[in-house]
Amino acid sequence: MPTIDLLNNDPRPRNAAAALRHPEKAARPDQPVLRKPPWIRVKAPGSAAWGETSALLKGSGLATVCQEAACPNIGECWEKKHATFMIMGEVCTRACAFCNVATGLPAPLDPSEPGRVAQATKALGLTHVVVTSVDRDDLPDGGAEHFARTISAIRDACRGTTIEILTPDFLRKEWALERVVAASPDVFNHNLETVPSLYVTVRPGARYFHSLRLLQRAKELNPSLFTKSGLMLGLGETRNEVMQVMDDMRSADIDFLTLGQYLQPTRKHHPIDRFVPPEEFEAYKALALAKGFAYVAASPLTRSSHHAGEDFERLRATRGRRQES
Ligand code: SF4
Repeated sequence: MPTIDLLNNDPRPRNAAAALRHPEKAARPDQPVLRKPPWIRVKAPGSAAWGETSALLKGSGLATVCQEAACPNIGECWEKKHATFMIMGEVCTRACAFCNVATGLPAPLDPSEPGRVAQATKALGLTHVVVTSVDRDDLPDGGAEHFARTISAIRDACRGTTIEILTPDFLRKEWALERVVAASPDVFNHNLETVPSLYVTVRPGARYFHSLRLLQRAKELNPSLFTKSGLMLGLGETRNEVMQVMDDMRSADIDFLTLGQYLQPTRKHHPIDRFVPPEEFEAYKALALAKGFAYVAASPLTRSSHHAGEDFERLRATRGRRQES
């Protein structure tokens, strides 16, 4: 299978493409780019089924994180009609050093969006849907009400579809988390992204302990909720730091851990420190399961929403078994 090169799939001159989407990064020096190892191989997009998903999404006018984050799994997922919706616009108010989503001042919220997400979920036939968003620090509630409306619209239109949300951190947005949890998603996901020592360079607008507490509080508010969080590896973290984060996550009662390889979207983004080999992901998975996570997805191409439906079924089954024993 051909490999998609995220750094070379934009026809515009490299620096022009990066500057347009990430004006705050335009003046930064180019970062070194590591050659991809043979295990970073993905299915190229373009099959007939992929085209159908693409056309349906285009017609809906909705954004997907699959496209905006230049996800390497888009060929595989869209062929199976799996897509992850990104609500509240395509422009983010944060400027994380790892992220390909465009940064700047977003447009006002579109009140028709929750209904359109619900209709697209139905049209794609999704039995498990993942909805994420950009950060909306410009909104008084960080977009919590919009998230809640989207959950309700999907519930109304798609009876039986389970709903996973991957939210921003709602930093300094009082009652935002409470509003979102009250809408009763099945899975509450918020990614810690990296270890605390790298927050200042990788995720400067966020606070590690706030994010951790957000996840813990979500479970406190609704103990039947499944909580999920993930880390990107290969940013410069140490093994001990990863294990400490796993312990922190377990202390916050997080059920599901995802670990994937960080891939550098452009030369202006954070460089890759190293490619973590598949065996190391396997070793982390074994460690995490021993620490008590109900489910762990760990591989170079693992992403929060990759195989989210199948993984949710396994997660639910594990909780059921644990409750019976
Ligand atoms: S892994 Fe998630 S973001 Fe990537 S293509 Fe699949 S559904 Fe989209």
